[in-house]
Amino acid sequence: MTIEIATVPCLEDNYAYLIHNPAENKTCLIDVPEAKPIIKVLEKKAWDLDKIVLTHHHSDHVAGLGNLLRSYQASVYGATADANRLPVLDAELKENDNFYLGNIEFLVMEVYGHTIGHIALYSKELSSIFSGDSLMTLGCGRLFEGSPEIMWDTLQKFCRLPPQTKIYSGHEYSEKNAQFALSIDPNNKKLQERASLIRELRSNGFPTVPSTIESELDTNPFLRSGNLDLKRLLGMGQHKSANVLAELRSRRDIF
Ligand code: ZN
Ligand code: FE
Repeated sequence: MTIEIATVPCLEDNYAYLIHNPAENKTCLIDVPEAKPIIKVLEKKAWDLDKIVLTHHHSDHVAGLGNLLRSYQASVYGATADANRLPVLDAELKENDNFYLGNIEFLVMEVYGHTIGHIALYSKELSSIFSGDSLMTLGCGRLFEGSPEIMWDTLQKFCRLPPQTKIYSGHEYSEKNAQFALSIDPNNKKLQERASLIRELRSNGFPTVPSTIESELDTNPFLRSGNLDLKRLLGMGQHKSANVLAELRSRRDIF
């Protein structure tokens, strides 16, 4: 039986994810923006909840935890580095740790930049990464705590994943990200195609997740901060990639 991943829209534009392993009847949740829509999916699918992973401490990723734990007895996992400001954890995770949903193995990656202490979960077997607010469809998280250098290191970790890897990120920002990306890189054919696909999906109320590493490498300006053509478009041909990322991020912040 195949693993099922349910995308759960929460709050204004957040996503939580339920990963279900039917062979062992185990289910894990990535992030808890709010409890209600998650409980609704669990009840509809008749899934119990075994584990909860928090990608980082921001309230739009943890606020529903208390209410959810009133209905489900799940173990809560989060980063060692963030343990002092996350809700109470049952187990801590750090870079290169393994996390299991039954027989499915995930690798913990520290993906700092948006916050220091942010983690992502990567499964080779599922060819998927749950990236929270680090890498997103056509974007990356705001630099609240990390420097551009730190976020650039994080984005390069993503670049090294197999191209077919699916990216399940924490927010639906794709439409605005696509407009921004086109403002930087208007002649990028693949970006143009993607932007119109995103518009179509959103106008029909569908999520634009998951993306893939391959598609991000072609179209995401933040991930392409090291690309010479992109640097030249910004008049930054001689600049370090992290400086290009900083410029892109500060333009996006006011876009
Ligand atoms: Zn956040
Ligand atoms: Fe967030």
